Amino acid sequence: MEPTSPITQDVMTIPRKLPEGKQNLVGLTRAQMKDALLAAGTKEKQAKMRVNQVWQWIYHWGVRDFADMTNLAKDYRALLAENFVIELPEVVQKLVSEDGTRKYLVKIAGGHEVEVVYIPEEDRGTLCISSQVGCTLTCSFCHTGTQKLVRNLTAAEIVGQIMMARDDLEEWPVPGEPKDETRLLSNIVLMGMGEPLYNFDNVRDAMKIAMDPEGISLSRRRITLSTSGVVPEIARTAQEIGCLLAISFHATTDETRDVLVPINKRWKIEELLQALAAYPKASNSERITFEYVMLAGVNDSDEDAHRLIDHIKRHNIPAKINLIPFNEWPGSPYKRSSNNRIRAFANIIYQAGYASPIRKTRGDDIMAACGQLKSATERARKSRKQIEAEAGVAQG
Ligand code: SAH
Ligand code: SF4
Repeated sequence: MEPTSPITQDVMTIPRKLPEGKQNLVGLTRAQMKDALLAAGTKEKQAKMRVNQVWQWIYHWGVRDFADMTNLAKDYRALLAENFVIELPEVVQKLVSEDGTRKYLVKIAGGHEVEVVYIPEEDRGTLCISSQVGCTLTCSFCHTGTQKLVRNLTAAEIVGQIMMARDDLEEWPVPGEPKDETRLLSNIVLMGMGEPLYNFDNVRDAMKIAMDPEGISLSRRRITLSTSGVVPEIARTAQEIGCLLAISFHATTDETRDVLVPINKRWKIEELLQALAAYPKASNSERITFEYVMLAGVNDSDEDAHRLIDHIKRHNIPAKINLIPFNEWPGSPYKRSSNNRIRAFANIIYQAGYASPIRKTRGDDIMAACGQLKSATERARKSRKQIEAEAGVAQG
């Protein structure tokens, strides 16, 4: 039966108007930008062209000052400056790991903080971005899930994380210079703080902006959205975003998954697998990533490995399995499986014909690894209980 009231948490909405009455152009879809430019006095006949021009300045060239938009008439630049700003989240701290991983703490409206991690590899550079401050879900192995403060990020704050990283990597193109095809920031994973499918519209709008060929221009195949299993939103992800999908699977029985990933109490493993099997984009070249965190004595037995394969085969899901050595955090209730155990588990999966890479732990020295992200701001306005009560959540 289709659940009628999915656990949801539109906890706070941030007004788009800034205090001084100016509107941030970052994060607006093309249609929204057109409306904004019209409202500011742009002529109807010119609106589409103006959107194209401003869009390219912001998202292709990385320009932040209307005065630099040199193909626009001076008085039009003045009109833009009177009405709008181009504003990104502010970087308040940057840590660089011995292995080159960069962790940024960025401040967003209201003084909240989220973390963004950049992971350089030989053939790519991946930016791990956040979709919420904290997370209302309470996965028992995840540090973010222990954070009390929760709010959805706006589209501007989500795409702003990408623009901020391009600033830091100095990767905006320079007019007149040849285009550098080897991008430092080539991939995006929505694997930072928060559950992206509980902030669907803002995540979608931000990813559409990141994919737009006239701007940041990332291919949809280089964007991976990770979800804990918000079943009703999975099909929408394929239809409205079209990116790759990763699923935080982590357990092979409902009994264990109910504890590790409590959203499982709402949508059980079987229901989740059916939604994955139906994911319209899934194919051999665009496999679904099953993320599986290795917790000693909890989910790492040979039987678990066989059950995992059985689930995937039974539903015929094009899949790869990403084994994540558990990243311990202060007070975490689990231990990481031994390397031998992880290898034995990986081997069973490999023998069954599936790729089973073991995720390398990066940025350990700066607490930048998966699931360790938790901003320092703990001035909780609301407890998770309050938020759930407001959202009318039926737990269990
Ligand atoms: N909320 C989304 C995306 C963010 S979490 C989700 O749950 O999928 C990104 C990945 O890190 C998820 O697979 C999550 O289960 C995993 N993770 C969380 N805490 C972890 C930890 N302490 N060690 C290893 N992986 C962890
Ligand atoms: Fe939220 Fe994902 Fe952490 Fe679970 S694993 S608490 S869904 S961020």
